[in-house]
Formats: sequence, structure tokens, C-alpha cells
Amino acid sequence: MSILVVGSVAYDTVETPVGRAERVLGGSASFFSVAASFFGPVNLVGVVGHDFGDPQLAAFRGRPIDLEGLERMDGKTFHWQGRYSLDLNSRDTICTDLNVFEFFKPKIPARYRGSAFVFLGNIDPKLQLDILSQVREPKIVALDTMNFWIEKSPQLLREVIRNVDIVVINEAEIRELTGEFNLVKAARKLMRMGPGRVVIKRGEYGVLHLSDGEVFAAPAYPLETIFDPTGAGDSFAGGFMGYLASRDGAALTEMDYRLATIYGSAIASFTVEAFSTERLQGLSREEIDSRLAAFRTLTEFRV
Ligand code: AMP
Repeated sequence: MSILVVGSVAYDTVETPVGRAERVLGGSASFFSVAASFFGPVNLVGVVGHDFGDPQLAAFRGRPIDLEGLERMDGKTFHWQGRYSLDLNSRDTICTDLNVFEFFKPKIPARYRGSAFVFLGNIDPKLQLDILSQVREPKIVALDTMNFWIEKSPQLLREVIRNVDIVVINEAEIRELTGEFNLVKAARKLMRMGPGRVVIKRGEYGVLHLSDGEVFAAPAYPLETIFDPTGAGDSFAGGFMGYLASRDGAALTEMDYRLATIYGSAIASFTVEAFSTERLQGLSREEIDSRLAAFRTLTEFRV
């Protein structure tokens, strides 16, 4: 079943302890789409400026990613610049140039409106709401956001949260959003706002997945060198939603959600091995599945 994603398609300038990349392809929708495309078709809704060229679009070509919903507007493409701490566990945003985003009014192509799975990637909550009003009875809607929007549009963000099934968010953001330091309390508080599931991304500490009465923890895959954590969260979400959508309308079980969490973690572990979507470009489904098997041995034990 196809997935509709709305989010940023960006130029990123990134500094990490191992290097720097200047104006490379980034954005929540870019990482999400490439990751989800290993599992099935993706419909991308976003905007780029006149400066976004063929080399950047090449990342999407040859994959089941439909670009009819990627609008090109007069102006410059969204640009984000960030710098990571030495331990890679935190990052400072140096600049966020919204550019064409400021004037973007998403128009969903008619054939996207029936998408069963919808991912509202990190983007202005106003646009996330706009998308929700244009889709027809999706099976699952998931949402991601970041500190920028939690601080800039708290009310609108709460309105979107009320209307989604799953929130995928990192630990600093859920603490900021709920005012709770303890992650279990924070997740419960967030679920009282509407969603039935909360997936908390904790960087090198993995993922905590909570739903009513269930808690599941997945480790992050232990890597020797992390090149650039940018996009790990969005790739996680792409693998997570991609796997759920690939179940093709079957009633989703708790085990499906757990497996989706591991698929997301596996794909995210590849993303951080290079800048931008570079590592995902050369990746095969076999490599993803063999890392999935490595996850199994990572957590195996007997009592
Ligand atoms: P992640 O590392 O998964 O949190 O996602 C990083 C991506 O988010 C980068 O590629 C940025 O281009 C994008 N990004 C950063 N700030 C914003 C923002 N305010 N709105 C939308 N996307 C953003």
C-alpha cells in the first residue's frame, strides 16, 4: 500500500567531528522517501526552489518515489545548517532558511488522496494540518516534528497531534513538548493528547516504543564510526512506515509494530554511515535484511 509523505526537501550544510558537507541533499521528506522506498511506493509532497537541480533529484530516481507532488517554486530551496557535538548526541542549528517554504501551499495530487499511510514529516504544523484536510480516511497517520516548530507553533502542533495515530519524536523534543523529563510519563501525557502510539528516538540509545499497555525497546546498532547523524530520525520513520505499509492491508499486530521498529533502526544505522542520503543510495534490500538478522542476535537471550 502506498505512503504519502509531506516534509522538507532541503539543502543541508552539516558539520560533524569527522567532516563537513556543504549544501547536500537533506530534508525530512528526502530521507523518509528514500528509506521507505525499499518497501514499496511513496508519494512525495514538498517544495523546492529554482536552485534545486538534476543531481539532487537523482537521489529519488530509479526508486518507487512519485514526484508529481514535489512542487518547484520561484525562489530558493529550504536550507538548514547544523553542527554536532563531539559525542554526536546533540546538535546546534546554525541557520534555518525557510525560503520557498514560507509561501508553500501543499496541493495533493488527486491520486495521492487515497494513500493508506500518511507521514507528516518535520515541517510547519500549518502545512501538516493542510495535508490532513486533503486525504481520504487513511489507515495510519504518523507525525514527526522538532524543537523549531514546538517553539514557533505550539498550538497548531497540538491540533495536529490530536488527529494522528502515531508520534515519532526524539527524546529532547518530547520532553520540551510535554514538560515531563521522565520518558514514560512524557509518552503517557502525549498519548492523552490523542495518538495511540509514541515512538521515542534516543540516538545511540535506540528507540522506545510505547502504546497502551505495551513498551518495546530497540537498541541502536553499534557502529564503529558515525559519519553524520542527520536524517537518522527520518530514515527510521521511513523504514518503520515502509514496513507497516508493506503488510498490505493486513490487520497490524503488536509484533508488526516491533518489527517495523527494528526495520527503522536498521535503515537509520546505514544513514549515519555517510553524509546526506549517500549510504542509502547504494544500499540493497539484502543488506537491510542482513542487518535485521544482526539485530536479532544483538538482543537474543534465554532465561
Ligand atoms: P533528523 O536528523 O532526522 O532530525 O532530520 C534532519 C533534517 O531535517 C535535515 O535534513 C534538515 O534539512 C531538516 N530540517 C531541519 N530543520 C527543519 C525545519 N525547521 N523544518 C523542516 N525540516 C527541517
